[in-house]
Amino acid sequence: MTKRIGVHLGTAGGVSNAIARAPEVGANTLQIFTSSPRMWRAPSIQPQQAERTRELRAKLDIGPLIIHTSYLVNLCSQTEEVRAKSIVAFRGEVERALVLGAEGLVLHPGSWKGLTREEGLRLAAEGIEKSIDGLKWQGTGFHILIENTAGSEFSLGGSFDQVAELVARLKVHAPVAVCLDTCHSHVAGYDLITPEGYEQTMKQIDVTVGFKDVHVWHCNDAKAALGSKLDRHEHIGQGTMGLEPFRRLLNDARFEHCAFIAETPVDEPGDEERNVRVMRSLVAEAKS
Ligand SMILES: [Zn+2]
Ligand SMILES: [Zn+2]
Repeated sequence: MTKRIGVHLGTAGGVSNAIARAPEVGANTLQIFTSSPRMWRAPSIQPQQAERTRELRAKLDIGPLIIHTSYLVNLCSQTEEVRAKSIVAFRGEVERALVLGAEGLVLHPGSWKGLTREEGLRLAAEGIEKSIDGLKWQGTGFHILIENTAGSEFSLGGSFDQVAELVARLKVHAPVAVCLDTCHSHVAGYDLITPEGYEQTMKQIDVTVGFKDVHVWHCNDAKAALGSKLDRHEHIGQGTMGLEPFRRLLNDARFEHCAFIAETPVDEPGDEERNVRVMRSLVAEAKS
């Protein structure tokens, strides 16, 4: 199977437009939003739109289709009202993902500010369970992908340990797996740059979330330094990480089953295509 490399794309005019655009930017996988990332209410997906998406994906061999949850969702907020709204919104995210036949729904575990980390973990796990209650995800291949965060003080999932803890709590009741982000890992203090640091970080992944459960790597270079806890994405190869971490990850047999998706900035037209091309070139180089 060809390596799955892609980028986050906009969905103006419908999700199927993003699918149609993927090959134009050199992508055979992609990530989208199905709601405005900063609004609570989201329109539902029309059946014809879902049908068109499935048809185009089959025809163009595009997959996996990954959806990123709205940034407003915080399942472990200290405010009950925010938690309640988050559960409704996240349920909508899962429903739209299932209608579209998406394989993954990326979720930031949330911020437990004002609570303890243990309470935050419990609320996030409970919130996810409530959100999927009664929905038919069995047999679809769909997974909620818990993403590691940049490691800021109150955010859940700032270490591979914390992601693994949440996944372990949910595993029996919910379809959960993992999305790791290169920029978040780097600014959280995991070294991917030096060969020794990279292997050390791999060891950490192995004993926490495990390689098999990592379904997606978000490939983003960083504007900020290793361990800085500042989440600012940069074009691949142009930030504080450079090309080497991406070359290693893209050619690492332990992640052969993964999709590699950039969430790099769009500063100029053509940036999506350029970042995909850089990633693709790193794979080709290793083969020759
Ligand atoms: Zn990410
Ligand atoms: Zn980020």
